[in-house]
Amino acid sequence: SPVSQIRNFSIIAHIDHGKSTLADRLLEMTGTVAKEDMKAQLLDNMDIERERGITIKLNSARMNVKEDGHDYVLNLIDTPGHVDFTYEVSRSLAACEGALLVVDATQGVQAQTIANVTLAMEADLEIVPVLNKVDLPSADPERVCQEIEDVVGIDCSNALFCSAKTGQGVPEIIKRIIEQVPAPSVDETQERMRLLVYDSFYDNYRGVIAMFRVVDGSISKGQKIRFKASGKEFIVEEIGIMVGGLRKPVSRLSVGEVGYVCANIKTVGDARVGDTIIEAGTENEVEALPGYTEATPMVFCGLFPAESGDFENMKTAFERLSLNDAALFYEPENSVALGLGFRCGFLGVLHMEVIKDRLEREYDLDVVVTAPSVEYQVQMSDGTETTIQFANMLPPPHKVAEIREPYCLLEMIVPEEHMGPCMELATQRRGVYRTTNFLTQGRALLEYEVPMAEIIRDFFAELKSRSRGYASMDYRILDYRSNDLVKLEVDINQTTANPLAQIVHRSRALQFAKKITGILQNEIPSQQIKVIIQARIGTHIISSKLIKAVRKDVLAKCYGGDITRKKKLLAKQAAGKKKMQAIGKVNVPSEAILAVIKKT
Ligand code: GDP
Ligand code: MG
Repeated sequence: SPVSQIRNFSIIAHIDHGKSTLADRLLEMTGTVAKEDMKAQLLDNMDIERERGITIKLNSARMNVKEDGHDYVLNLIDTPGHVDFTYEVSRSLAACEGALLVVDATQGVQAQTIANVTLAMEADLEIVPVLNKVDLPSADPERVCQEIEDVVGIDCSNALFCSAKTGQGVPEIIKRIIEQVPAPSVDETQERMRLLVYDSFYDNYRGVIAMFRVVDGSISKGQKIRFKASGKEFIVEEIGIMVGGLRKPVSRLSVGEVGYVCANIKTVGDARVGDTIIEAGTENEVEALPGYTEATPMVFCGLFPAESGDFENMKTAFERLSLNDAALFYEPENSVALGLGFRCGFLGVLHMEVIKDRLEREYDLDVVVTAPSVEYQVQMSDGTETTIQFANMLPPPHKVAEIREPYCLLEMIVPEEHMGPCMELATQRRGVYRTTNFLTQGRALLEYEVPMAEIIRDFFAELKSRSRGYASMDYRILDYRSNDLVKLEVDINQTTANPLAQIVHRSRALQFAKKITGILQNEIPSQQIKVIIQARIGTHIISSKLIKAVRKDVLAKCYGGDITRKKKLLAKQAAGKKKMQAIGKVNVPSEAILAVIKKT
């Protein structure tokens, strides 16, 4: 089809505002997928996504539409709906000329509405506001239009009203995409092939499949291609388009079109999102498309198999998962308390949960997760610089000149009646207040600058509970800032419990120290020697707890000669001992370590 009849667009929305439902309706109403073939939410393809109702991995769909006697091709490029995947969102938006901004007319603007619109504006897209869920009695699309104009600064005089559920207003959306979203622009001076990779995933049969937008030139089967950033070269086995969730091979794709390529690529690390595909041999003449950065992990934690015999299985699982996930970082670790496992890096907390979930469901592993940490930049006294992701990597204080931690811009939308407690939370988490904007329906948009370390420690759950479930939030990384950060360590009878070390702000250290020592005091059973639990910064002890010694005789409870009962008790005690870790001469149950990791 001629370029003038192609429309490349995506749908952006806050979670639950109806993006997937609208996408399904568009596929159905353009006849791309027959109604009886509609599975719930065709574009969300992982179980986890369906269960959580969020879209993580992007997917695309091509629709053919006849309008005023012309044949149009509408390419829907779906975007992930979570802050962890902002980089992927920005790359998929870069493959489009327009975006439908879907806002729930009963809810109004939410945190991710703003975040996504910001990205769409940065990508210079034509934005079409769509007010969804107008079938609901509580919908107030006019008022929400006003809010969109006030808060996000987009003209809503031509906004469309629809119900993705009933299909009302959806034909008008299709018409509007054709009218308002520009056709791809063609730079006649550029004949050399340049393709933007906006998604790539691993297929068990075909290897990596890379989704791309043809920015310049064209691509054909059999051609030799090169990924500019990774430098890897491949022969094109198959190119094609996605129709109704199925791959349909074609022989050639030209400027403005979107499609997929299979080229016997073994890992997504060779075909990363944001990379530029060029013709092999042209690398000295053809520049990469702008905007490529490697997605780098921001959140780190240890993942350990609950059964120590599962280490090899877990290793295999990581190898397979990373074929499909270029942002996943892992390396083996041997922890005194938790045994053999892995140190891992993730894009964010959701990414971490998704991987844990997949290890459990797809690989049938029981997984123990340690407390998440961010990456710190450490300026050494000798002038060198290093980055660390785990407290145990922090050099001794006399060698450290400065420690910097990542800060985020945090946007929260909360009902006015819950503003007090939500602001208090941000302040407790060392947030620096920026602004308040009042929205419709008695809600306020609050902005803070907050250390990322504080956001990944259960911030969202706490915000939800302080707002009775009504708050939404989004954050993006701003910069790294120098702070008075210290390593908080825990000793049990003079022996350091390594997995419990954390980097915390000095002002929060006492609070954490008391909590940790308190948990350990409750969780460690009394033993034949007295147990002293101490939390310290360097050599300075800031909290300490004592567990008195007792002489515990498990057989004392048995009167007389009930041999089987005695045996059972002894066996039980032996089993209990297995799960104990000796720290110093103290037996510490693994549960005690885990309780600290979970609750701090
Ligand atoms: P997403 O997170 O943006 O992809 O949102 P979904 O498409 O998954 O929709 C979230 C929820 O809203 C689902 O329960 C949908 O059935 C419901 N929903 C979506 N659109 C409409 C609509 O137009 N009207 C009504 N009443 N419900 C809708
Ligand atoms: Mg969805």
